[in-house]
Amino acid sequence: MPVYIVLLGAPGAGKGTQAAAICEHLDLPHISSGNIFRENINNRTDLGKTAKSFLDSGDLAPDNITIAMIRERLSREDCSRGAVLDGFPRTPTQALALDEILSEFQGKVDVVPFIEVEENLLIARLTGRWTCRAKGHIFHEINNPPQEPGICDFDGSELFQREDDEAETVAKRIRVYLEQTKPLIDFFDDKGLLKVIEGSQPIRQVTAELLSILPKVS
Ligand code: ADP
Ligand code: AMP
Repeated sequence: MPVYIVLLGAPGAGKGTQAAAICEHLDLPHISSGNIFRENINNRTDLGKTAKSFLDSGDLAPDNITIAMIRERLSREDCSRGAVLDGFPRTPTQALALDEILSEFQGKVDVVPFIEVEENLLIARLTGRWTCRAKGHIFHEINNPPQEPGICDFDGSELFQREDDEAETVAKRIRVYLEQTKPLIDFFDDKGLLKVIEGSQPIRQVTAELLSILPKVS
């Protein structure tokens, strides 16, 4: 049976950072809806053209296009043992759609680690984030700096600051999270799937806590 892990948390909670660590450990693909949108925007696909204004403004992209995008991604061969989802679902409609999609692959959501971080840490995390142009590797100018400023440790590509990590858009994204995504905490808790992870700790400690609660993957 495939294993599906859904990482939940505010923007800046550390979902992308921790997804990379978990995926390496469990040898599962990292499915980041934000990364897929950004790839489509860079490649000027129709999906990218539709999504761009939403990402730029810090709003959520419409459910229908987001759900179709994730359905397509999860149907690929590399997800046959499961996947780590980062940034999807973000609305109750998406959460219900995910159940349907996974049932098509004889799977279900297995566990939902909720990376809980004090709200006052989020803005500094996002405005100090540097992202790798080639593969989306994530750094922070203070908390997790690259060895050489502006250069990705893993693939040598350029690091850039996302436009939506500028302070005003960050504030908007946090508001959108509180209004539209936070209700998913209760949604998954009611199903007995939620595991609260103390995300204000240093990165390595968060990773250790996460690895201790994850299921085995065959
Ligand atoms: P998300 O994917 O949830 O938006 P990221 O993983 O991109 O969050 O992390 C946001 C920023 O915070 C990045 O710059 C990252 O390096 C930094 N970061 C992530 N986890 C921690 C942590 N536990 N402590 C300090 N900084 C962190
Ligand atoms: P992220 O990389 O997760 O911070 O997402 C960046 C942006 O992509 C968000 O602010 C949204 O505009 C869009 N996005 C990512 N995931 C979703 C989703 N599940 N539903 C709607 N919009 C999304």
